[in-house]
Amino acid sequence: MRKDRSKALFEKAKQFIPGGVNSPVRAFRAVGGDPLFIKRADGAFIYDEDDNAYIELINSWGPMILGHNHPMIREAIVRALENGTSFGAPTAREVEIAELIISMVPSVEKVRMVNSGTEATMSAIRVARGYTGRDKFIKMEGHYHGHGDSFLISAGSGAITMGNPDSPGVTFGTAKDTLLAPYNSLEAIESLVAANPNEIAAIILEPVPGNMGLVLPKPGYLEGLRKICDREGIVLIFDEVMTGFRLAKGGAQELFGVTPDMTTLGKIIGGGMPVGAYGGKKEIMDFVSPSGPVYQAGTLSGNPIAMAAGLAMLRHLDSHPEVFLQLNAIGDSLVTGFRSVLDELGLNFTINQLGSMYTLFFTDQEVYDFETAKKSDTALFGRYFQAMLSRGIYLAPSQYESLFLSTALTEDLVGKIVTAHGESIIEVM
Ligand code: PLP
Repeated sequence: MRKDRSKALFEKAKQFIPGGVNSPVRAFRAVGGDPLFIKRADGAFIYDEDDNAYIELINSWGPMILGHNHPMIREAIVRALENGTSFGAPTAREVEIAELIISMVPSVEKVRMVNSGTEATMSAIRVARGYTGRDKFIKMEGHYHGHGDSFLISAGSGAITMGNPDSPGVTFGTAKDTLLAPYNSLEAIESLVAANPNEIAAIILEPVPGNMGLVLPKPGYLEGLRKICDREGIVLIFDEVMTGFRLAKGGAQELFGVTPDMTTLGKIIGGGMPVGAYGGKKEIMDFVSPSGPVYQAGTLSGNPIAMAAGLAMLRHLDSHPEVFLQLNAIGDSLVTGFRSVLDELGLNFTINQLGSMYTLFFTDQEVYDFETAKKSDTALFGRYFQAMLSRGIYLAPSQYESLFLSTALTEDLVGKIVTAHGESIIEVM
C-alpha cells in the first residue's frame, strides 16, 4: 500500500499547522505512523491521496450515518447554495429544523442552533448556571464534551489519547467548579451533592459515553440521576452529540426512557456540515438571550447551507424509522462476527456495543467506567489498528473511541471487516 502523498502532505502540514492536523485525534499519535490524507469519500469507503480505498468505521466521527456523499444530502446542499451562503438573518429553514428537532427529541421544547458540539455544551452549562443561580456542575470522568475550558478536566477522546487530561491554559479558578464523578456510580453523585448543598447547577454526561470507548449505563443509573436532579433542583443535561439521532430517532433519552432537562446535539444534526444545537424545557431555554439574560450568539449560527444539509438528514431519519433497525442489525452482525472469531481463538476481549456504536477493548475485564476502560492494552490496540488498516479497514486511531457504523455497510462489507478482524487478531497476538 503506497502512502507517499499522505506522508509528504503530513511533513508539509507539520510546518504550517500545529502537529499537522486541525483536530488532535486525527494524528495517529496513539497508534503510530502518519495520518492518511483523504481525497474523497463515497458510501462506506474513503479514498486517500494515494488512491487507496478503505472501508470506513469512523464516518467523520459520527455524522455520516447514511454513509458518505449521500445524494440526497448533496442535492440539498447544492440547491441551497444557489441562493447564497450566509445571510446573518433569520431564515425559514431554521424554523423548520427547530420544529423537527422538537418533534424528534423528547426533552427539547425549544432549541438554539450553534456551529459545533463544543459550543452546544459550553452554552448549555452557562444557561443551567444562569437558570439555577449556582456555579458548580458535575461531569463524569472520561466523558468528553468538547474543548470548553470547564470540560477539560478528566476529559475523554483526544484528551486521553494525548495524555494531557488537564490541559494547560485551563485556570484553577475554572477547574474548581467542575466536580468529577465516576460514570455509573450513583453513590459518588450522592456524596458530591451532600458535600455541595444547593451549589450544583447541573449534571452533564454522555448518557451512553463513547469518548472513553463505548460504555453502557448500568440498569437504573440514568433513572437514578433523574431522581437526584429532581430532588435537588439540578439541571440534568444529556450530551447527545454522539448518540442523538443515532441510537434512536430521539437518541439515548428515547431508548432508555429518561428525559433530561436539557440536551446538547451535534454531528448527525448537520448532515456533515458544522452544526450543533442545545435545547430543553421552555422555562430553561427562555433564559437565553434575547428572550432572557444569558448571552449566547453566533455569526454563522443557523447557516443556510448547514441547515439545508441538517434538514435533509433529519427529515430522512424522521420519515424512515427503519434506518435505526437497519443500523442495529449491522452492529449486531458485525459484533457477532467479531465475537465468534475471538471465541475460536480462545480470547475473551470485551466488546461493548449498542446499535451502531461499538468498542473492542483489549482487556478481558468488564468495562463500565473510566478506570476499567484504562485497563485496556493500548499497545495491542495500536498493533491491531495498523493490521486492520493494512487490510483496508479504517478504524478510529485510539482505543478510547467508539466506532460509528453507517447504513452503507452491506452484509458483504461486514463479512470483509470480520475476515480482516480475524486475520489482524492472529497477526498481533
Ligand atoms: N460532546 C460529545 C459527546 C462529543 O463526542 C463531542 C465531539 O466528539 C463534542 C461534545 C464536541 O463536539 P465538536 O467536536 O463538534 O465541538
